[in-house]
Order: sequence, then C-alpha cells, then structure tokens
Amino acid sequence: MAMLDFNTLQVASISSRLAFVLVFLVTLLRHPREVYFGVWASALCSSLTASLLMLGDPPNIPLTPVKGCVVYVLYGASLALSWAGLRLFYERPACIPQVVLLALLSGLPYGALLAAGASVAWSLSTVFGGIALSTALCIVEILRTPASMRLWTQYIVLSGFGGYLFIFLLTIGVVQFASEHLASPEGGVYALLFDLWCGVFIQVGYLAMVSERAHLKLSRLAETDPLTGLANRRGLFAAIRRRAGRTSSPPRCAILLADIDHFKSINDTHGHEGGDAVLIGFAERLRSVMRKDDIIARWGGEEFLIVLDQAESSAASIVAERLRRTAEGQPFSVNGTAVTVTASIGVSIVAAGEEGIEPALSRADAALYAAKRDGRNRVCLEWPAAPSQPETRAVRAEPPSGLRGAMDDISIGEQPRSEMA
Ligand code: GH3
Ligand code: MG
Ligand code: MG
Repeated sequence: MAMLDFNTLQVASISSRLAFVLVFLVTLLRHPREVYFGVWASALCSSLTASLLMLGDPPNIPLTPVKGCVVYVLYGASLALSWAGLRLFYERPACIPQVVLLALLSGLPYGALLAAGASVAWSLSTVFGGIALSTALCIVEILRTPASMRLWTQYIVLSGFGGYLFIFLLTIGVVQFASEHLASPEGGVYALLFDLWCGVFIQVGYLAMVSERAHLKLSRLAETDPLTGLANRRGLFAAIRRRAGRTSSPPRCAILLADIDHFKSINDTHGHEGGDAVLIGFAERLRSVMRKDDIIARWGGEEFLIVLDQAESSAASIVAERLRRTAEGQPFSVNGTAVTVTASIGVSIVAAGEEGIEPALSRADAALYAAKRDGRNRVCLEWPAAPSQPETRAVRAEPPSGLRGAMDDISIGEQPRSEMA
C-alpha cells in the first residue's frame, strides 16, 4: 500500500465519478424519459462536491461541525438519490421528502452533536448510521424486485451497495471501539480504495442493468403480437424452446388451432376496427380458458394456436370444446353492437417419437380444415398416423354437442377404433 497515497486516490475517485456523470447526462439528453439517469447523475454530483470540499484535508482529522454538516449531508444526499434513482428504474414512485430527510439525517446530527460537546466517535457514528440506512434501502429496493423484472446485472449493483453497507457498519464499530485505527493515514487509504471499488461496481452496474432491460424489452416486443398482446409465431417457438429446455424428454403436448368463422364478414359489416376489437376480445377469452402453463399465440390473421402442456387427446378435446363454447357463449361488443362469434378448432397431439411440433401442427391444420368443411363451429381431432401405416390419416369430426368420441381413451400413434366415426 506504500505506493498508494490518499490524494492520488482522491483524484482517481473524482475523475471516475466525473466520467460517469457525463455518461449519465448524455444518455439522459438522448432519452429524456429515463429520468433515473438524471437522479443518478445528481447523486454523483452530490458526492463529487463533498469530495472536492474535502480535497487536501488530511483523512485523520475530524471535520469541523459546520464543514462536517455540509459534507455529510452531501454524502447522505448522494446515497438517498441513488435509492430514488433505483426506485424510478424499477418503475416505483420516487419519494422526495424521504430523500431530503435521509440526506439531513446523515449530516445535521454530526454538527449538532459536535457543537453540543459530544464526542467525535458518537458524532461520526450518526453519520455512518444515516448513510448505512440509505444504503440498506438501496439493497432492499433491488431485492424486492419481482421475478418478472429481475435482471442478472442488478447483482453487480447489489454487491457494490453490499460492500458499502459492510464498510459503513464496520466503521461504526471502529469509531466506537478502536478509534486509534481511524486516526492512522493507512485507514483512510483503505477506505478510499474500497469506496472507489464499490462506486465503480454500482455505476457500471447501473449501465449494465439499463442495457440488459432494454435487450429484454426488445426481444419481448419481437415475440409479441401488438394487437392482442399474445405471442406471435416467433414468441410461440421461443416459448416451446424454453419449455423444452426445462425437460430433457421430447415435447409431449397437444395442439389446438382455432380459426374464427366467417371473420371476413365481420370485417365487412363492422369495419377493420370492429374486426380488430373481435380479435382482441377473442384473445382475452383464450387467456381466460387456458391454464398458466399453456402457450397461446396468434398464428395468423384470425387464427390462434394453443400448445397444451399435456398429450392426452381426450383432455385436449375437452379444452377445445370449452374454448369453442366460450367463444359462442357470449356475444362480443363491437361499437356497441353485440356480435356473436364462432370458431372452428383443429386438435392434434405430438406423438411419441416425434421430435418437434411440426407434424402435429399439420395434423391440427388438417383437422381445422375438416371442421370448416363439416360446417364450422366445431372441434375436430386428427390422430397421428399409426407407425405401420404412415400413409393413413384419420380425421374425426366432432359435433359441437357431443364429445364422446374424443373422450375415448386413445393411445398415441393408434388409429381411432372402428371408422373415423
Ligand atoms: P372461414 O370461416 O373459412 O375461416 O372464413 P373467414 O372469413 O374467417 O376466413 P378468410 O381467410 O376468408 O378471411 C380472413 C380475414 O381476416 C381476411 C383478412 O382481411 C382478415 N384479417 C386478417 N388479419 C386481420 C387483422 O389483424 N385485423 C382485421 N380486422 N382483419 C384481419
Ligand atoms: Mg376464419
Ligand atoms: Mg383463417
């Protein structure tokens, strides 16, 4: 440590913070809605001002009451503003009165206690207690993030604040019980070095968090249908890949392909916007009928694809029938007019031995075609071809009212018993 002297470290620390202030301010200028960059920049400006005020002061002499008040309020403000910036980043409201209170709490008691004749140890303990509180709030803010918003890079920031909290609490202990170490110039060098590390972890971590979240938002956007908010084709395959990643076995699932009947005439009667309203309402009903683990996607214009997390054809047909009934059960409101909508649904299952969902998908498509051909507003099921007769395909149309055929216990890869009746 003989190579490191206090003043050089102070200059290094000030330069690095200055660079981050510039980066945050330029980013804020380009993206004015990302207010947290401004808050983080002001947090850095606050601690920069405090460091500049202390420049040249020997680290082992306590500050006078007035200077101490100013410097420690500025340090307190820096941490409290970091907390407010984190809250804004996580889309929680910032609380200005609390920020002001935390800043004052970190500096005013120091001056007041020293002026009233209290010991330096106690006066300094209130300072470190105040800034430790703000640091703890930053840590809590990161840890309470729900799983849906969690970022890997937030743990870099967390480690920076964790380091700060550790050093602040340690300092209270040293001040109270071993103040002779505090007076040593080496102690000041170590503290400043640690501060430099934690600071860089936090500022670099902020930038990494912002970029990680931007990437996530972009990839979610690319996988979402803007009209209905459901997954688009890309999102569907991404969801299937994510699910496959969780299990080592090939996909075992059922596929439902639902197509709104005579949708063109809805467009013709109620206009394209009316048609859009029906699509949005239909997507909502899909969500209400399906379970959390099912994957729902907008496959094309008025065609929706659902991947059920199970490979029982009977259960899949029951779900499809429930969906069909939900669609026709209650009319949709289009510009104040009630519009009854029906849907035809093709059902298929991914057979044992099939690698991907594509063969099942084309069977569901064939089943949907059969449902349309047989009069619409019905569920049809197509079985996987038997391994011995790969050419044969069975399509069985189910009348809307009866699902007895679909309820038969069918083992995968087997032809339906008797006819396709
Ligand atoms: P069928 O019962 O045979 O399915 O008849 P259909 O009229 O529903 O099917 P068709 O394929 O003839 O027409 C689908 C229509 O859906 C044509 C297209 O203009 C319309 N469409 C596709 N995407 C959208 C969309 O995003 N919004 C609206 N409003 N209409 C759309
Ligand atoms: Mg249609
Ligand atoms: Mg269609």
